[in-house]
Amino acid sequence: MAKTPGTLHALFPAVPKDNRGRASSAFEAQAPARGSEAPGSPLQSLTRRTAAYMDALMKGRVKIFTYGCQMNDLDSLKMYTELSKAGYVPTDSTREADVIVVNTCSVRQKACEKAMSNLGRLASVKLRKPSAVIVVTGCVAQQEQGRILERMGHVDIVLGTHQLHLLEALVEEARAGRGPVVAAGFSPCVPFMDTVFDHGLSPEPHRAYVTVMQGCDNYCSYCIVPYVRGPEISRDASKVLEEIRLHAGRGSREVFLLGQNVNSYRGGMSFPELLRRIHDIEGIDRIRFTTSHPKDAGDDLVACFKDLPKLCSHIHLPFQSGSNRVLAAMNRKYTKETYLELVSKFRQARPDMAFSADVIVGFPGEGVNDFDETMDVVERVRFDVLFSFKYSVRPNTKAASLVDDVHGEEKSRRLDILQRRQREITLENNRLRVGGVYDVLVDGASKKHEHQVHGRTTHNVIVNFDGPRELTGSIVKVRITRANPNSLTGELLASPPS
Ligand code: SF4
Repeated sequence: MAKTPGTLHALFPAVPKDNRGRASSAFEAQAPARGSEAPGSPLQSLTRRTAAYMDALMKGRVKIFTYGCQMNDLDSLKMYTELSKAGYVPTDSTREADVIVVNTCSVRQKACEKAMSNLGRLASVKLRKPSAVIVVTGCVAQQEQGRILERMGHVDIVLGTHQLHLLEALVEEARAGRGPVVAAGFSPCVPFMDTVFDHGLSPEPHRAYVTVMQGCDNYCSYCIVPYVRGPEISRDASKVLEEIRLHAGRGSREVFLLGQNVNSYRGGMSFPELLRRIHDIEGIDRIRFTTSHPKDAGDDLVACFKDLPKLCSHIHLPFQSGSNRVLAAMNRKYTKETYLELVSKFRQARPDMAFSADVIVGFPGEGVNDFDETMDVVERVRFDVLFSFKYSVRPNTKAASLVDDVHGEEKSRRLDILQRRQREITLENNRLRVGGVYDVLVDGASKKHEHQVHGRTTHNVIVNFDGPRELTGSIVKVRITRANPNSLTGELLASPPS
């Protein structure tokens, strides 16, 4: 899914930071309230000198635009972490940034176009400030490599998905006037996977996103991921567990494991074994993961939902199509029947299990009957959330050689039918939750309503309720009072012990 870039930036406090990117508490303690000192007073002069000193320690300001999935969000957080260790301070302002990174997504045509048009707009920034270093990372960087430099003379660095560990060194090179450069080779190991993000920079430090693997060996015929993320590479289990223990020690309550296909994890143990080991880590109360391929979700994964109470009652299980004919053309390696059987196994293991999925309409050759099969899966599973898309051709994929024969208007018609029905089902699911009491991990203050906070149930449903923002990061009991189209409203029953 494409989303608005720059969500991290709003959370960065506008306080001076030291050369390792940490806020200077000494500075804050000494700084007078604005306007409280006469101009030229000794205290004001000290403040000016302190600010100048902090500026001298700072190497520059960095802004990152992020497009695409949670893996890109995490990569951006890790890039901020690495650059802030080197003395760069995050900024919200493109104009004042000395380093601008555009972390791109190419999974769908639209996301790709959005990132590229933002990148194009940065030409005027470079014109105004030639010393600014413009970096492109992510899937579009991997896909386009040197072609980006040919088309966009203002770009200094193109960094592929296996080379993010080179970011800081290449930024220094560019600032020294060397470049432009493309670093986009695939490697047998990806050092950046082991970078641990700085909790102080995270918008939600109570939730630790942790990469367990990256890449994909499945080659679904419509998907560009194997070409831009490379083959599957798993992180060593000991490193994953060590990182999670670190996050738990720093106060994370929930761990969210990320990988393009977590079920084919092989970092010294299987994915279900890894889940069991994480379950033993003290301080972690919730475990989530994404994304799962249905063909790799075996009985040992299902058993985890029976045995591990910390494992949240939600799974994202992309089904893509309900038609066996289309599934075969997509190279998905399961059928509608095996998918539905898997869903029912999860429900037997965890009766309140919630499901979300990705689905594509208008794949080449999809007829009306095929689409009806897709709608049948929607009716039977009753997903909480469906990420639904019109098929768009991705370069180099196998499906790119098929005739894109479902007309644009027909794709829109099918998508509209599917989304309308899904909206009804989501609301019906939410209505069934009214009157129930749920544990909610509070994510923060509401942007819309003062005195309200929002959080998530184990089913990954958003709940809004009256409560102080200090509850952020706590798990509280909430009674659901109203169902909304995409969320629930509730009332706080009990605060956690202080
Ligand atoms: S499993 Fe298929 S859809 Fe998912 S990343 Fe791999 S190739 Fe793409």
